[in-house]
Amino acid sequence: MTVSIRPHHLLCMLTFLGKGYTPQFVVNYGKIIRRLNAGEALEIVEGADDICAPMLGEADCHCHNDNILERDRLTALEVGEILGKVPETGDQLEVTADVLLKLREAFAAGTIRSACKGCEWFDLCTEIAENKFSGCRLASR
Ligand code: SF4
Repeated sequence: MTVSIRPHHLLCMLTFLGKGYTPQFVVNYGKIIRRLNAGEALEIVEGADDICAPMLGEADCHCHNDNILERDRLTALEVGEILGKVPETGDQLEVTADVLLKLREAFAAGTIRSACKGCEWFDLCTEIAENKFSGCRLASR
C-alpha cells in the first residue's frame, strides 16, 4: 500500500500539528501521517489525494481549483531541486530521515514555499518552521 499525495502536500505534511479544516479532515490526516511514520511509501498523484478525501464532499471544497493545481506544479519544481528529481505522477517516495531533514531545511529557508503564497495557514506554518517543527506529527525514521 502507498499513501496518495499531491505535490503541494509534500509541504503541508511537514508542518502538520493536528490542526485543519474540519474534525474529519484532522482525523484522516493523522491516520495518513501514522502510515508514513510506520514506513509506508507515498505515491505522487495529480489532483485530489488521500489528504483531500474528507473535503471532497464539502460545499467549499477547493481541491480541484486551478490555483491549487498551480500549487502542485510549483511545489514539484521546487522540491525537485531538493530531491534531485521533479516528482511526477506515479512516482513513489519514502520519507526517510534524510528526505525529511532536507525538505524541512528548505521549507524553513523558504526556498520551496512558492505554493504557500495566499494560503490561509501561511503564518501558522511559518511559525512552526521557526519553532523547528516542534510537535509536528511526521517523524523522521
Ligand atoms: S502554508 Fe499552506 S500550502 Fe504551505 S505548507 Fe502550510 S498549509 Fe501547506
